[in-house]
Amino acid sequence: MTITTTTPLLQLVQVSKHFGDLRAVDEVSLEIKQGTVTCIVGPSGSGKSTLLRTVNMLESIDGGAIFFDGEMIGHQVRDGHRIPVSASVARRQTLNFGMVFQHFNLFPNYTALENVTIAPMLVKGVKRKVADETGARVLAQVGLADRKDHYPNELSGGQQQRVAIARALAMEPKLLLFDEPTSALDPELVNEVLAVMRGLAEEGATMLIVTHEMRFAEEVADEVIMMDAGRIIERGAPRDVIHNPTAARAQKFFASVG
Ligand code: ADP
Ligand code: MG
Repeated sequence: MTITTTTPLLQLVQVSKHFGDLRAVDEVSLEIKQGTVTCIVGPSGSGKSTLLRTVNMLESIDGGAIFFDGEMIGHQVRDGHRIPVSASVARRQTLNFGMVFQHFNLFPNYTALENVTIAPMLVKGVKRKVADETGARVLAQVGLADRKDHYPNELSGGQQQRVAIARALAMEPKLLLFDEPTSALDPELVNEVLAVMRGLAEEGATMLIVTHEMRFAEEVADEVIMMDAGRIIERGAPRDVIHNPTAARAQKFFASVG
């Protein structure tokens, strides 16, 4: 008998995040199952980064709830009272997320390997020898086995972003979050980063990816979600969402990026 779990790895229930009068994220609900890839698309300012930041606990939320692995990690508003998540839960759960940003933000005075090993050593207390072994493995995984002793300024933008992906992998996160990981790259460097992400998907990584790369989303995503003005206006199978959206706003958006 095989035991299957139906609990999603990540669940957002009517999550809202306001900045003053602005509803940056407006009652967004979504579920991400383990081993799946979800791509979030949408125009600039639609709330994509803010949504990722609420998942990653970089932002508190003003409504709704966030569950990870069945445990509530997001602040919840109930009867007007905000219920904070305990600091220890937040600290423990934050370790489950690996985040890759548009600007890779590597430490310039550290080698690729040092950039990858510093968090496991400082945050998780991993011994240097073990951290170095894991670091070498994840750098090889992103195709940079021969660049581990290079400094960021000796690497191309695509290579730097791959180091940033390796840095996230080194923490062995359960969920990888990407916020426009190829948007800052020269066009000829985009594919090498997408290839690494495609490889991670094939190996079963669970990923939530904000991207403008529609062809990548169509090929790799299990679900594509389109946001506009803080809300999800379209969601479903990549082909349907990208090529056959129902909302007029979505039709206009995909025509402009396609
Ligand atoms: P996207 O990533 O889709 O471009 P963002 O999540 O960055 O959108 O922003 C959504 C909206 O929230 C925008 O109008 C943005 O200006 C606003 N916003 C984001 N962060 C803040 C903040 N810290 N303070 C005030 N407004 C913010
Ligand atoms: Mg953004």
